[in-house]
Amino acid sequence: MSNFVWCHGPSCHTSHTQDRIRGVKGSKVLRTRKVAQTQWNQNSFYSKFCSQGCYNDFANTYMQEITAIAPRTEALETPVNVVKEQARSWSGRDYMETKIIAVDNNGG
Ligand SMILES: [Zn+2]
Repeated sequence: MSNFVWCHGPSCHTSHTQDRIRGVKGSKVLRTRKVAQTQWNQNSFYSKFCSQGCYNDFANTYMQEITAIAPRTEALETPVNVVKEQARSWSGRDYMETKIIAVDNNGG
């Protein structure tokens, strides 16, 4: 696989794992991991990060910049109907179930 990017985790190169070791005896380093670009990771953060940990490190380091891309200045709301229904559990016990049903605003 020659199509790759370097992991964007800010401290990827500091994790003590054998697969990050490069260089010859006396001048070894821990190197940032390569992330292969595949059809399986092309639309997810796994195309830029080698692990969930590196993704979290990046998000925590750049939280202010990331949220500035699409600021949330007010709450969003989704119209719903809340319906209580009698239901029966797998063990035969009756209980009231609360169902949240999306309201279709386009069709009325
Ligand atoms: Zn990484």
